[in-house]
Amino acid sequence: MPKVPRNYTRKDYSSLLTELQSTYSASQARKTIDDDAKKREQEPLTAARRLRSSKMDNRRLKYAYSKRQMVLHDKACDLVRYIPDMDFDMVETIPKGMTICQKCYRMVLIRNAIGDDAKKMNAYLRFFDMVEASNSDLYTLLVEYRASIHWENSYTLTIKVNDDRWQLVHMERGENLLYHNNYYILDDYSRHFLNDYHEQHVNGTQDFHHYSYIMCHYSWEEHVESMKEKARKQEEEARRAAEPIRNCMKLKKLSLFYAHYIFVDKEEHLADSLLLSKGVEVRWGKEFAKPGVSYRFRFCKVRKRQEALFLEALQKLQDDMPLSQYLEYAQFCKTFPTTIPG
Ligand SMILES: [Zn+2]
Repeated sequence: MPKVPRNYTRKDYSSLLTELQSTYSASQARKTIDDDAKKREQEPLTAARRLRSSKMDNRRLKYAYSKRQMVLHDKACDLVRYIPDMDFDMVETIPKGMTICQKCYRMVLIRNAIGDDAKKMNAYLRFFDMVEASNSDLYTLLVEYRASIHWENSYTLTIKVNDDRWQLVHMERGENLLYHNNYYILDDYSRHFLNDYHEQHVNGTQDFHHYSYIMCHYSWEEHVESMKEKARKQEEEARRAAEPIRNCMKLKKLSLFYAHYIFVDKEEHLADSLLLSKGVEVRWGKEFAKPGVSYRFRFCKVRKRQEALFLEALQKLQDDMPLSQYLEYAQFCKTFPTTIPG
């Protein structure tokens, strides 16, 4: 049972209460006015904050910056939270010429190349540290050449540059290997890509710098050109082998010491230096040329003991000729037996 003091007399506090109530309501009114003002003051700030968080939630917007400082950050950079709401803005791609924050530099470059795979950001960072990729090589590969990358496992990364896919594999021994996608070549020289890879045997240093250079500068078009050129050469070689030519003819002249010849030379007298290098002494006779034709019929005689060397030099004359010239030369030589002038 609660104790009640026996001599308790009820006092009248009503006037005090009224006084208190009026003071309270006055302060209450003042407080409401202050709050309203504060609210009005804070309203644009709240709007800016709302805009900021909706931008941060937008998966397409990858980078944040302060409109005052114009330094680009990855959206996950610690420094982003220090950007005041009023100055905060975001972009989808790396704006040309904007300074990139040194703290999150590699994250900025990686995010540019990984599509929606941002949850593996740390795995990408670890991989590039492991293969000792420099910032400038990463910038060239991921920003300038717009490579896209895909993390396969702790030691393998797939890198796509233009149409080609590559795999960079970090080996236990510490070295890195580069693989290139397999493909069929179709009749029109386009490619049908397969899902596997072959090792790209790289000459020279086998580091990330060299590999990224190879990936950035690989050109299928150039590859096609060199294949076509090789095919053309093979075709011409085959034609050359199939049609041996005779660029000289021995003349039936009775001579004890000399063999008499007529042969086809270019107007620049290509045979001279070849004969000289073999030490063949030649007595020159007449020379015939048709206007507008760059070949010459040249008469000459050589000592019989030097005849073999002479014929070797004439063989070398046709062998050394570039293929394109050779075919024309061969055509000209075919007219030999019937058109000997003189
Ligand atoms: Zn940053």
